Order: sequence, then structure tokens, then C-alpha cells
Amino acid sequence: MTMQKTPRTKAQITPRPDAARPAGPALEFGDAWTYAPAPEARDHVKLKSRYDLFVDGRWQPAKKYFPTISPSTEEKLAEVAEASPEDVDRAVSAARRAYERVWSKMKPGERGKYIYRIARRIQEKSRELAVVESLDGGKPIKESRDVDVPISAAHFFYYAGWADKLAYAFPGAGARPLGVAGQVIPWNFPLLMAAWKIAPALACGNTVVLKPAETTPLTALLLAQICEEIDLPPGVVNIVTGAGATGSALVSHPGVDKVAFTGSTAVGKRIQQALAGTSKRLTLELGGKAANIVFADAALDQAVEGIISGIFFNQGHVCCAGSRLLVEESVHDLVVKKLRDRMMTLRVGDPLDKNTDVGAINSRMQLDKIKELVAAGEREGAERFSTPCALPQKGFWFSPTIFTGVTLSHRIAREESFGPVLSILTFRTPEEAIEKANNTFYGLSAGIWTDKGAKLFWLASRLKAGVVWGNTYNKFDPTSPFGGYKESGFGREGGRAGLAPYLEIDG
Ligand code: NAP
Ligand code: MG
Repeated sequence: MTMQKTPRTKAQITPRPDAARPAGPALEFGDAWTYAPAPEARDHVKLKSRYDLFVDGRWQPAKKYFPTISPSTEEKLAEVAEASPEDVDRAVSAARRAYERVWSKMKPGERGKYIYRIARRIQEKSRELAVVESLDGGKPIKESRDVDVPISAAHFFYYAGWADKLAYAFPGAGARPLGVAGQVIPWNFPLLMAAWKIAPALACGNTVVLKPAETTPLTALLLAQICEEIDLPPGVVNIVTGAGATGSALVSHPGVDKVAFTGSTAVGKRIQQALAGTSKRLTLELGGKAANIVFADAALDQAVEGIISGIFFNQGHVCCAGSRLLVEESVHDLVVKKLRDRMMTLRVGDPLDKNTDVGAINSRMQLDKIKELVAAGEREGAERFSTPCALPQKGFWFSPTIFTGVTLSHRIAREESFGPVLSILTFRTPEEAIEKANNTFYGLSAGIWTDKGAKLFWLASRLKAGVVWGNTYNKFDPTSPFGGYKESGFGREGGRAGLAPYLEIDG
């Protein structure tokens, strides 16, 4: 059958007036296509006004509650229980009972079925989860909908498959669960980090007490509801909300056999000190200051997309964000121009709008940290460019920002801003690129952009980073291990390697 092409009318071919671009060298803000508002509905989301602790398969009250707000509007979304050390103790005891009486005795294939059910239920509730993630954390709905929620489900699916195949994961060695895992996660990928922690722990036969971050507890609580809905045996997953003190009580509880922490390097170090001398197993996923290295021979327009998604994706609230751009000197000016043009088209605003590229900063505290580091960049002599977008009056916002003229001694080149702030440095040779990329306390991730495959692999093997992306950036998959070197932590999550931290492996 031949397809007949419908002739296009003049009206279809003529660009809309708001799509017209000026002839000048650089775009002005607002020259890009404008979009009508396209807010995702939230009336299908039924948040409770108050959330208790999910302990032993039941919702248990706490003595104190704290509000969780939407960082884009400062609207209070719900009250959430603040777990005391006694609450944490109850949760750990429930996890121990469930481990000894039920979960470690269950046939691995049966454990796998429960984990598959969690995965499927996440898919069924994906719209609700995505909206709540964007409401509570401020990230654009297109990210929570297309990245966080699907990859969270994929993680449960992936590890469900391992539950009855552990003997094949480590051939010839016996693999046994550790017991109770105490897990503490940050606010930048609340549901996804919960999935990264809970899925492998359960697949390996452990039970879990998880503490989400104070500013983003809601999707972890929806995950607790999912555990209830799929009839997960009581005590296998316990969710204790609270602030740093709750996390501290959890990791130092003597009934915890394994601690898994994702968060800042400072807190990670404190946890490592607290656990020294105990028999607890520990994995730490900490901060990063990734180099995104662009060679002159790269496909520069693609590289610019990768740079943009690497740092402005999720407002730069990404531990593996490409926050240092290392660009070959000969193309520096061209890359910066392309980058500025592309930044002009980024839409900053309502996280629930489907067109939004950059949402709200997660909290006032985080906004203050970003502002302080940016002010230091200006004081130290780097040249700042921020998109001149109109930011909403309420909530916490920061315009996408780049700094040129940055050297390695600048604080903005060394410290994690954890915001939409990019520092641009140059290099002349691949050796200099490696030297500069590795000149950091961190070692979580890096990116390389070149059209020469051999150069890419040569460089990748010399970068001290847990993940190196080639001609792409910020791509995640449950089958591939993730983790850092140096002050970015130790241990791997994801893939077969992600099973080992939850197992006692003989031989
Ligand atoms: P954070 O302050 O270290 O908090 C992380 C978690 O630890 C939160 O749940 C926090 O509770 C809790 N916590 C705070 N003090 C604690 C203590 N003394 N003992 C036990 N738990 C404690 O980090 P953040 O500022 O929320 O998150 C941003 C950091 O996480 C960045 O540095 C980023 O690079 C890192 N990160 C790393 C990865 C990775 O995979 N490597 C992934 C995501 C984020 P509260 O929320 O109540 O303070
Ligand atoms: Mg919140």
C-alpha cells in the first residue's frame, strides 16, 4: 500500500510569530517557542493530612509530627511523624522478627513474587507517584514521570528476578542474607533511592528499616502503602520518617546488621566513625563533582544537550551532575555560545507543568547553600551568566547559571553546589583533561564527548570515577552498577554488584 502525502498548507509551513528568532548572534530570553500552560492534574492524588510511621505492617502514631511542604509554592502538603529513638527501636525489632520468622525462611522464589508485586503496583500507581514526587520535592513532572518512577519500578523488577538466582550470581560460593538493613536516603531522588535500597535488600532475604529525607518523605510513605496493598508480610519493610536524629538513631542501633547510606560526604563520614569497631556492614554513596569533558572533535550540539541535561536536569540536585565542564580550548567560545543559546530556551517554573525543564530548589536551606557558593564564584573572579527568567514569587528558585573563567582553585570548581550551576574550565591536551578531571576529592562520575572511540576508551580507563558516560550523560539502568571512589563513597548499587553488599558470601 502506498501512503499518500497530505500537501501542507501555507499556514502549516509558516512559523508562528512567537517561534520567530532574531537574526542577531545570540538569543534573547523569551525568543524561544512559548507554550500554553500544561499542568498535570493533581485531583486524582489523595494525600492524607497526617502520616504515621509504617512499622510492623501497621501505621503507628508518633509523639511528634512535622510538616512537609511543596518547595514550589511553600504549601503544606501533609504532616509526617518524627520517629524517636524508641520508634526506631520498635521498627528494628519488627524487622528482626520478620527476618527470623518469615522472610529468611521463605522460599526465594516466593520472595521474588512479592518484589514483582511491588514493581507492578508502582507501575499501576505511576501517575500518582510522579505527581507526589514533583509536589513534595519540586522536580519537573516530566522527570518524575519519565525517569524516577519508571526506573524505580524497573529496579524492583530487576531484583525480583535475582531473588531465586543468588546461587548463580556468585557461583561456587554460598550466599546468605545479613539480617536487618538500616537505610537512609536523601531528597533528590526520593522514590528512586528507596527502590535502589529496598529492592536488592529484599531480594537477598534481608528485612529493612528505611528513613527518607525530612523534606521528601511522601513517596516513601506511598511505597509503604504499596507494601500494605500487596500484603507484604508485616515488618519486612518499615518506613520511619524524621530528620537527621532519626537517621542517626537508625544507623547506630545495635540491632541493625547492615547500613546503607546515600547523602552528603560530611554525614557519611560521621556514620563511618559511628560504626567503627562494630560488625555492621556499610555502604556509602556520597557526593560528587563530575567532569564533563568535551573535545573539539565531538558532535557539539549533542554535547551541549548532554551538558544541559547533566547539570540542569533535576535542578542540579544530582550527585553525579556534570558540574564541571572541561572544554577543549579551541572550541571554548563556540561551546559557551551554544550553551547560552540553549539555556535561553529552558523553561523554569511549575514542577507540575509538563513543559517545565527546571523545577524548584528542594528547600530554602539548599537554596541558601547554592546562593552562598555562587556569591563565592563571583567574589573569586569567575564570570557569571544566569538566564534572566522571571522566577515565581513564592517557593525556592534559582536560574540556570554558568561560570566561565574558572580555575581549579575556585570553590565553584571544587565544592558540590548541588544546584543548577556549571563551572567551565578549559584544557589543551587529553592528558591535561585527565589531570584536571581527577583533581578532586570526589570520584563518582564523569562524561566524555568525542567522535573518536579509541580516545574515549583511553580516557575512560584513566578517570577515577565510578561511572563514565561516553557521548551521553545521566543515563541509569538497574543492570548497571553505580558508586564512587575516594570521598564519593564505597560499595556499588545496581546490577549483580548491587547484591553483594546485602549478602554474606562464603568462599
Ligand atoms: P544529608 O544531609 O547527608 O542527608 C542524607 C540523609 O541522611 C537524610 O535522610 C538526612 O536526614 C540523613 N541524616 C542527616 N544527618 C544524619 C546523621 N547524623 N546520621 C544519619 N542520617 C543522617 O544529604 P542531603 O543534603 O540530604 O543530600 C544531598 C547529598 O547527597 C549530596 O551531597 C549528594 O551528592 C548526595 N547524594 C549522593 C548520591 C549517590 O548515589 N552517591 C545520591 C543522591 C545524593 P534529613 O533529611 O532529615 O537531614
Ligand atoms: Mg517537601
